[in-house]
Amino acid sequence: MTVLVPGGSLLYRDPVYPFPFNPDLETHSVSGNPPVDRAQTVERRIALVTVITPFLAVIGSIFLFWGHGIGWIDLLAFAGMYIFTGLGVILGFHRFFTHRSFKCVLPMKYLLGIAGCMAAEGPIYFWVACHRRHHQCSDSEGDPHSPHMEEGGLWASIKGAWHAHAGWMFNHAAENYRRLVPDLLRDKDVAFIDRHYFYWLALGLLVPAFAVMAVTQTWWGFLHGLFWGGFIRIFFVHHSTWSVNSICHLFGSSPFATRDESRNNFFCALFTFGEGWHNNHHAFPASSRHGLLWWQFDSGYLLIKALSFLGLTWDLIEPGSEQIEAALRKKAALATEVPEVLPSAEKFTA
Ligand SMILES: [Zn+2]
Ligand SMILES: [Zn+2]
Repeated sequence: MTVLVPGGSLLYRDPVYPFPFNPDLETHSVSGNPPVDRAQTVERRIALVTVITPFLAVIGSIFLFWGHGIGWIDLLAFAGMYIFTGLGVILGFHRFFTHRSFKCVLPMKYLLGIAGCMAAEGPIYFWVACHRRHHQCSDSEGDPHSPHMEEGGLWASIKGAWHAHAGWMFNHAAENYRRLVPDLLRDKDVAFIDRHYFYWLALGLLVPAFAVMAVTQTWWGFLHGLFWGGFIRIFFVHHSTWSVNSICHLFGSSPFATRDESRNNFFCALFTFGEGWHNNHHAFPASSRHGLLWWQFDSGYLLIKALSFLGLTWDLIEPGSEQIEAALRKKAALATEVPEVLPSAEKFTA
């Protein structure tokens, strides 16, 4: 049986690896030895290409398609691929591979893994390792992408927000996969998906390109599909999902007492299939449901639930209403608590 404890004391269903994890900032390569420097250099170069290319493609598309307008087929390619690859990251990389918040049939495991790779946010090992470390060290030393690591005024805040959003990938130290994702290293399905990351990425560009070409019967259609279903879609999936790391640790409400600065943000939740209920998620990390209150729309969870009726997913982890209410009460009690210790006298005598 899985017990959910607010505050993140149980992050994953599978307790096979050492827990609680003690963040080891002396990072290692997969083999446990250097060449860490080389791994980091390669990783940072890939990050640069991954972040810059969709941005340049969005700028380029303005010139390329100027005067041609946006057709329904463009929007269809964009929306279809946004939903497919966005769900790959959110349901696949995050709720399934990182937190093990539900189980699913084997073809769905592959579909979620491949769709997540098509989002171009890095392979599964990388994504999951970074995210598990984020939960372990949230908004403190060792968090790969906290916006709160620098004290200061407005400029420090802007720098922090950019670091949390995408900047962290350019100075990110290689993760210790053995320590962070030992369950995934043992999983041959994940190893297969991860090893072919760049093929899935290319497939995510070519499928919409050929689909639009097939409908329009022109090479011009290929280009439309490549941009709208490929590059422009990657740009929007990137920035909406990365907003969970930046905006949802800066703006919004925090109804649960967690050890970090996580926030619930309605707008982020709309575009990220429910991931914007991020304070809820930090309070109950293993829950497959992020929108914990009835009015918190969580389309990702609704899909997992719908699939469970078809027998494609099962063993969904979610906290009971008593656990949620107890956690809400705890936060309310903390907010009204009278401080036992008065401010020290030095403060007034200095
Ligand atoms: Zn977070
Ligand atoms: Zn998480």
